[in-house]
Amino acid sequence: LAIPEFKEFCTQIKSIYDELRNVKGGKNAQYIPQLARVNPDYWGVSVCTVDGQRFSIGDVNVPFCIQSCSKALNYAINVTEHGAEYVHQFLGKEPSGRGFNQIHLDKNGLPHNPMINPGAISCCSVLRKEDSLAERYEYTEKMYKKMAGGEFIGFSNATFLSEKSEADRNFAIGYYLKEAGVFPEGSNLKETLDLYFQLCSVEANCDSAAVISATIANGGVCPTTGEVCISPDAVRNTLSLMNSCGMYDYSGEWAVEVGLPSKSGVAGSIFIVIPGVMGFCVWSPPLDELGNSYKGVLFAKKLVELFAFHSFDGV
Ligand code: GLN
Repeated sequence: LAIPEFKEFCTQIKSIYDELRNVKGGKNAQYIPQLARVNPDYWGVSVCTVDGQRFSIGDVNVPFCIQSCSKALNYAINVTEHGAEYVHQFLGKEPSGRGFNQIHLDKNGLPHNPMINPGAISCCSVLRKEDSLAERYEYTEKMYKKMAGGEFIGFSNATFLSEKSEADRNFAIGYYLKEAGVFPEGSNLKETLDLYFQLCSVEANCDSAAVISATIANGGVCPTTGEVCISPDAVRNTLSLMNSCGMYDYSGEWAVEVGLPSKSGVAGSIFIVIPGVMGFCVWSPPLDELGNSYKGVLFAKKLVELFAFHSFDGV
């Protein structure tokens, strides 16, 4: 068993959950009403081990938009489809040291990495690029659902429409990338951005997202269905980049203090992977100054205080 004393483990997770339940701090993302008005008291934690043991507590069935967590998944799907060498013609592997929505390219004239907007938009330009936009969306959504073991995956059209109408910065990034010749031949910027906004607007809940994290933890094989979703190479790359770039401008600090490959999104979710052991999804909408879930960050810190899960614990 991945976690032998699972019952005892769950008791400890529950105690961290309870400890943080009434903690106030942070603020919901304000740039679109669909995120601003979500109940800030929602708080959910869900766990799925690589051998399919489950535990969840709190608001684990309430849908939220995965937002930037989609960036890690889109990269993993792309590398599975095309191999890393091809994908990295369009983006790099280096932390940017700048905000996630900065208009900026690396020294090779490429977006720094897939976990921030320029790289994520570039990733979307590659995703199933020969197909129609409808096919590309449907394919990616199905892949998310496969990674979630068939559990809840939805779509918030209201979020999509808001994302699209509040998107001056993302359009600016898109045009900048287009001018720099980053996108593959024949790609259509409007479609690329539509796909990007749509994939940010895909919904999951803590339970389904924990299975997604667990699929990554399990080398790309969904622990609840046994289905192969992501190639081993893609898992390795995705974990590496989640580790160095997954938590916005807190990524370096997180790598030291928590030491677990993770990806956060502006709706307040964090996908946390303990490679070879289990996946977590924690969700609480209020964000800290750097854009990570305020409670989610506290949860992860307490988790690695209690258990030796940090990648370099025990060395
Ligand atoms: N839709 C948001 C954006 O592109 C997603 C960002 C995020 O989760 N950080 O601005």
